[in-house]
Amino acid sequence: MSLSTRDAAVLWHPFTQMQTAPLPIPIVRGEGSLLFDAEGRQYLDLISSWWVNLHGHAHPYIAERVSEQLRTLEHVIFAGFTHEPAVQLAERLLPILPSNQKRVFYSDNGSTAVEVALKMAFQYWHNLGQPRPRVIAFDDAYHGDTFGAMAVGGRSAFSAPFAPFLFDVSYLPTPIPGCEAAVLAQAEALFDNDVAAFIAEPLVQGAGGMQMYEPAVLDKLMRLAHHHGALVIADEVMTGFGRTGKLFASHHLAEQPDLMCLSKGLTGGTMALGVTTCTAAIYDAFLSDDKFKTLFHGHSFTANPLACTASLASMDLLLSVETQDSIKRIAGQHHAFAEELRQHKAVSNVRQRGTILAFDLVAGGQASYFSNIRDVAYNFLLDRGILMRPLGNVLYFLPPYCTTNEQLEQGYEAVRELLDEIS
Ligand SMILES: *Cc1c(COP(=O)(O)O)cnc(C)c1O
Repeated sequence: MSLSTRDAAVLWHPFTQMQTAPLPIPIVRGEGSLLFDAEGRQYLDLISSWWVNLHGHAHPYIAERVSEQLRTLEHVIFAGFTHEPAVQLAERLLPILPSNQKRVFYSDNGSTAVEVALKMAFQYWHNLGQPRPRVIAFDDAYHGDTFGAMAVGGRSAFSAPFAPFLFDVSYLPTPIPGCEAAVLAQAEALFDNDVAAFIAEPLVQGAGGMQMYEPAVLDKLMRLAHHHGALVIADEVMTGFGRTGKLFASHHLAEQPDLMCLSKGLTGGTMALGVTTCTAAIYDAFLSDDKFKTLFHGHSFTANPLACTASLASMDLLLSVETQDSIKRIAGQHHAFAEELRQHKAVSNVRQRGTILAFDLVAGGQASYFSNIRDVAYNFLLDRGILMRPLGNVLYFLPPYCTTNEQLEQGYEAVRELLDEIS
């Protein structure tokens, strides 16, 4: 029996309608930006396997470091104990974050990093004896799939079955170019001293359709939040580690967030790990002789040494001149292709921030294409060995940094063919 058939008998896949989805493709090996299936077909992974991979698949340096760690210490309880990889990662991470970030709290993934940030924010106010009940977020935000993370995400058909169980959040429209003034006016009316936190994906809203907005308007919103004492949470789970052209999207800003959430690229996409960082003021609000001011939160695999080691190895690679040059190179290639896309009638709303290039597909006359343009595009590209996964009609590139210019061109060429096909 094939792996796909065995899979179909026992597994349930994420974000997948199991009744209608085609059998999953069995991947047996990865190398650089390429994935290889059981029949030796190759796929160019231009979405970094759901935005996690930074340096290519099965990177030998990360593999070496993790396997060394695996032989030394695979895991240890992180309450009452510590270990070198956890300490070293925090020591190396804090200096490359906005300068006010002073403490690192580990968890398991992006959603838990957001949960921890929300709990820190609510409990911060609780510990100060001034509880604040409200969070402000963006309409099309995505912060993860656990309940707290879902509550602060944009409400949609995906969260509808859970709507009665999600805490109240006030929403602002995403301040995309042209809408800044209107969003700021709405924000003026929304922010008050009841707001515990304002959470945002800085500059690029990933799952909400790769919507991009300018640093200036986020700076203004953050200033407004801070004016009312609200804490700002920067969810950099997707934007972190170079995607936006700087190490973190927050580095494009003048204002500094109070809390940050990191995951995905944190380990170079090797293992699951989440990080929440915060300012000294937030950390200090939990210091007390009163036990009930403790942050009562933790996961079994908090600060897993293997995941921390993967992160340390990934950071070595990320900070190398070679990778930093690649980030600029990819941004440059995207920039040129973006110019070309703007001329195409099957494309609208071309946008780019660093290594992320996104645009909307506009189908021509054929109604059948229009109604399922996402599946048409996905399958068309997959048939040509290109792994891209449109968000509705939004197609985007978010490649690992090791992707060569030739590979990028392969992706661009497949997209050109797709555009000609649908227009
Ligand atoms: C993916 C994502 C999350 C959730 O991370 P998981 O590891 O999938 O739980 C949270 N925030 C943003 C911005 C993301 O892109």
